[in-house]
Amino acid sequence: MARTVFVNGEYLPETEAKISIFDRGFLFADGVYEVSAVVNGKLVDYPAHMERLARSLKELRMDWPCTRAELDAMHLEMIRRNALHEGIIYMQVTRGAADRAFNFPKPAPKSTLIAFTQTMALVSNPNAVTGVKVITTPDLRWARRDIKTVMLLAPVLGKQEAYDKGAHEAWMVEAGQVTEGTSSNAYIVRNGKVITRGLTNEILAGCTRRALFQLATEHGVEIIERSFTPAEAYEADEAFLTSASQFVMPIVEIDGHRIGGGQPGPVVRKLRELFLAEAGRLGGSPREVRADNLRLCGPPPGDRNSQCQSAAGTARWTVSSMV
Ligand code: PMP
Repeated sequence: MARTVFVNGEYLPETEAKISIFDRGFLFADGVYEVSAVVNGKLVDYPAHMERLARSLKELRMDWPCTRAELDAMHLEMIRRNALHEGIIYMQVTRGAADRAFNFPKPAPKSTLIAFTQTMALVSNPNAVTGVKVITTPDLRWARRDIKTVMLLAPVLGKQEAYDKGAHEAWMVEAGQVTEGTSSNAYIVRNGKVITRGLTNEILAGCTRRALFQLATEHGVEIIERSFTPAEAYEADEAFLTSASQFVMPIVEIDGHRIGGGQPGPVVRKLRELFLAEAGRLGGSPREVRADNLRLCGPPPGDRNSQCQSAAGTARWTVSSMV
């Protein structure tokens, strides 16, 4: 059965959906996106995704395509129309369609908003039982990785390299340190403590990362924010990745080095369980959006999204609003 997708205010069969060849998302990757998980027909951690969307739009000086309430309603309607029980909703906003020129078109065209669903096994993902393999590869991306843009060619090449080598994800390396995965944040565990890179413009502030920090704090798991090298990762007790569609995913091999004896370790198993319990809880979860609690999501955050402060004397920014 064809999915129902969303294009600029209309719900259509996927075979009938069209956007302009002049769309700046298509021509320049001039667009941003979000991927929210759905479990038991309910959105997981949706407000965090909308907060990040607001920030991405603001950083690229792009307009909201509609009101936040309309976006909330669209997400719920997409779940309903596609009878989505478990999977993801992908949504993308671009600067719209205009004659090709690098500078922003004037007057600004109406932004393009599209969305679609994908059914996926998120909770009983078999990869979580066995753990996955990762490789490392140079980080070829631009300097504003904190903005969730659709400009994803470096991650595409990195992920393909991983697949070509029989692995599931590529950890990107810059200046000798792991930045993050091509579509996930990267973690190692040493002596029971979780280590992951701090939030700067060099990585995306993952919503799952943020939720993990909250759960870890609540359950007494220490997280240290610092960079680590591939060599340190090879020696780690455990390793894992996080993303909205993989939750907390154990890693059992990095560049051919077995991690934790090739089995998911106790810390990552505990963190995944905690995350699943949180994601799957029906009702009452602050991270879950239901039709009757949409108002809790509030309007798009204002100034809180704005800053990417320049750290003195360096080319890095801290992304304080995303912590
Ligand atoms: N880093 C990158 C580069 C990503 O593409 C993603 C997934 N969008 C993440 C981290 C994880 O973010 P989230 O937990 O919000 O899915």
